[in-house]
Amino acid sequence: MKNRYGYGDKIFTADDLAQDRGYENKSAMWAHYLRKQGKEDLIDNMSRKPSGESVDAFINQSRIMARCDICGNVMAINLNDSFLCMQCFNYQNKFLPRPINYPKNILEIMKLLEKRVAPQDRNWTPGDKIENKDGKL
Ligand SMILES: [Zn+2]
Repeated sequence: MKNRYGYGDKIFTADDLAQDRGYENKSAMWAHYLRKQGKEDLIDNMSRKPSGESVDAFINQSRIMARCDICGNVMAINLNDSFLCMQCFNYQNKFLPRPINYPKNILEIMKLLEKRVAPQDRNWTPGDKIENKDGKL
């Protein structure tokens, strides 16, 4: 079964989204976007060490994402990613990427969610418990 983005049964990431749009990966997609916005000076910032307050990863309708708590923008993210908001550009964090909080068992959470047939049922936010057949996790 495919979700509405066509990624089949997996939880999809920013790299999946980028590849769907014809880019090599998330970094290439956002570099293109930043150039179009006249913000090419921020392209190098994407790969800088994250600093400042972290944002939380969550999973919404089979997509792993994070929300900017400054402007409310929601973006697809990768695993082991940092967060540079493409709406406010982290201006309150000196335009530098912020760390993302992932649960330690993110891969296990993703695996369990991927067992759910309907992509719209694959949701997780920090604090949610997902039970498998053994009642674990
Ligand atoms: Zn923002």
